[in-house]
Amino acid sequence: MKEKLAGKTSFPYKPRKGQIEALKFIKKHAKENVCIDAPTGFGKTAVILSALLPIAPIVWAVRTGNEADRPIEELKEINKRLNTDYFGFSFRGKKDMCLLAREKGLDDTESVAYLCKRSRDNCPYYIPIESLRFKPSEPMLYTEILELCRENGICPYYFQRELLFHADVVSLSYNYIVHPSLGWVIKSVIPFEDCFLVVDEAHNLRYAGSIFSDEITLNTARNALKEVEKLDKEVAKEVEGILLLMEELRKDMEKKGEEERKVDIQEFYSDYLNVMKKLGEEIRRRKFEDGKAPRSSLYRLATFLIESMNFDGIKGVVFIAKAESDNLRLERWDMRCGEILKKRWRQFKGCIFCSGTLKPIKAFAEMVGIESYAGRHFSTELGRNECLIVRGVSTRGESLTEKQKKKYGILIDEFMKIEANSAIFSASYRIQRELMPYIANAAKETGKEIFVEKQGMSGDEGRKLLDEFKKKGGVLVATMTGRFAEGADFPGKELEAMLLIGIPFDRMTLRTQLYIDYYMDVFGEEKGWYYAYVIPAMQRTCQAMGRALRGKEDRALFVLGDERYRERIYSRLLPEYVKPKSVDFEEVGEEMQKSWHLLRI
Ligand code: SF4
Repeated sequence: MKEKLAGKTSFPYKPRKGQIEALKFIKKHAKENVCIDAPTGFGKTAVILSALLPIAPIVWAVRTGNEADRPIEELKEINKRLNTDYFGFSFRGKKDMCLLAREKGLDDTESVAYLCKRSRDNCPYYIPIESLRFKPSEPMLYTEILELCRENGICPYYFQRELLFHADVVSLSYNYIVHPSLGWVIKSVIPFEDCFLVVDEAHNLRYAGSIFSDEITLNTARNALKEVEKLDKEVAKEVEGILLLMEELRKDMEKKGEEERKVDIQEFYSDYLNVMKKLGEEIRRRKFEDGKAPRSSLYRLATFLIESMNFDGIKGVVFIAKAESDNLRLERWDMRCGEILKKRWRQFKGCIFCSGTLKPIKAFAEMVGIESYAGRHFSTELGRNECLIVRGVSTRGESLTEKQKKKYGILIDEFMKIEANSAIFSASYRIQRELMPYIANAAKETGKEIFVEKQGMSGDEGRKLLDEFKKKGGVLVATMTGRFAEGADFPGKELEAMLLIGIPFDRMTLRTQLYIDYYMDVFGEEKGWYYAYVIPAMQRTCQAMGRALRGKEDRALFVLGDERYRERIYSRLLPEYVKPKSVDFEEVGEEMQKSWHLLRI
């Protein structure tokens, strides 16, 4: 008979370096907050689940719903290996789970929520779920829940609620933790104070405030005017006033060559906002009754402005206008993080934060509002690596000078002589574009094929490019801010040498400046700058480096093509597993060959 481990801790695999230590560390400090920095490939999911399952329930928070299946897959494996019967599932919102919305072709969050609010009582799928007498026998992925509910003609969303009563683990997106109105679905069944919260890839928490961010465009206002003109002349005049303000703003920004501008949201205030919202609701109702998607631009415009007025004056929330050819985006940007989150952590019995890029843990904890914690870095067995920092080159400045370009050209030539599948990661698309002729030339001379990541590439195009690179081999040309620097895996010989050009700081736009100013305001000048500007850039560098070194069998040559990496402020944030050696630009070709040779013996 299968069982739960009731207080006992077992680990389902032959432990690797650091895993049992980490497991004990989590168990010991679970009722406090725990911060774990461990590289990808460490086996964090198995370690954390093994430590917490005997004292479950666990709420496992991931960045997006798409990642919610991973801990559940691991839970299945644990059950299989330890002969246990823990139950868990990945929880999704109505947008993914509403069967009625699928039939009606509705796929945006707002319309699906509206549909359910209006139709639930008559919905053919909203049937008493208890009648199903379902007792889950094994952990369920979101697709499995959907399938089961389809077969039985019941609502998958409300079925999930029933599953909560049986769950040892529920895996969901951060939003359910960050947004108070979303969390109640879970809390009403599993009170948070009885749960342990695990936050996976916790470095992403610094964007937590984005859940309160929102935007409208000039087109929203144009369409709102069209909608209201037929309904109410007086209100139409008010909407026209808002539209005119936005149009004038766009023209003025265009004239002055401004991409972005901070705006005072009160300029868009109207006494009629609530009336607009009511009329918008009426439009939605009529559309819904006519079998159309219940969307209304008037409703969008009014709710955006009403909510924005409520946010006005809150430290960390700004309003930005962004001009785009003949359009204008008016955005509410919530930069807050620690201030929002610290109240959330207090709700749980204990919180475990983990990531491969949590370093420095003290800074992370302060940024995301963790008031007390036990933190530790764990390393794993990785293959050998050599790391060179090149003295005499830097991407410092607005754009590369001819001299800088030539030097990087030589560095690229030498790097591409390394006989290995390699990658050239630039700090930005601008730098990549500026150096592209040199890369193309070196490829021609060495006969290597290059695979170039382009700005704005679709997910499908990216996947195709990656498959080609993995199949044929050659040189991947990408940026440290792009998709290949964080999400892709290159085991073994798929990627063995990497040239990093520059440090991937955020471009110094108005937005970046506002972000830095806010952090300086909260943490003081020096720390604020470090938290808002330096750490995110170095996290990108570390993420990119991590692509080439995932397991024991891997080996990697890292060439850091920017002398600033030698400075203490940056070098202390490089991955633990590298011991960088500084080399002069003039000798870099020889040094690279020497290091590569060392890795091969
Ligand atoms: S009850 Fe379920 S299927 Fe029916 S409208 Fe609501 S979410 Fe959709």
